[in-house]
Amino acid sequence: MLDIDYQILKIIYRTNGNARLKHIQDEIKTVKGIKIPLSTINSCIERLEKKKYVDWIRYSPLKLTERGTDLAKELIRHARLLELLLYNELELSAEEAHTESEKFNLLFSCETINRICEKYSHPEECPCGEEISNSSDCFCEKKV
Ligand SMILES: [Zn+2]
Ligand SMILES: [Zn+2]
Repeated sequence: MLDIDYQILKIIYRTNGNARLKHIQDEIKTVKGIKIPLSTINSCIERLEKKKYVDWIRYSPLKLTERGTDLAKELIRHARLLELLLYNELELSAEEAHTESEKFNLLFSCETINRICEKYSHPEECPCGEEISNSSDCFCEKKV
């Protein structure tokens, strides 16, 4: 999965079925400081749609499919566990660890992430207090 698709997936997940293209563009601008053309966002969403992560009736807000929701939750879980690792082992601040974890989140396999989860006895919160969902099964892209 491309980083931009991951960003978009997260935004749609967090807006709970109210995301529109313009909203996604604004959110990315806030987080990354770059204004991505709507046409680019459009092709990302078409890619997510093709993989059945997004339901999109044109001109309506975007919604994740069940499969898309599962993937978003799992990838957010990955990021929070990486955050915990950075915080505990490198003594980054909670905030730094939170931001840094997003930068390389997509590079790790589920197996590696699950090692982190085991190492810290299946933590329920990340250092800055967000919930870490428990995964009995993995919804990562390559497995679905
Ligand atoms: Zn996973
Ligand atoms: Zn956090």
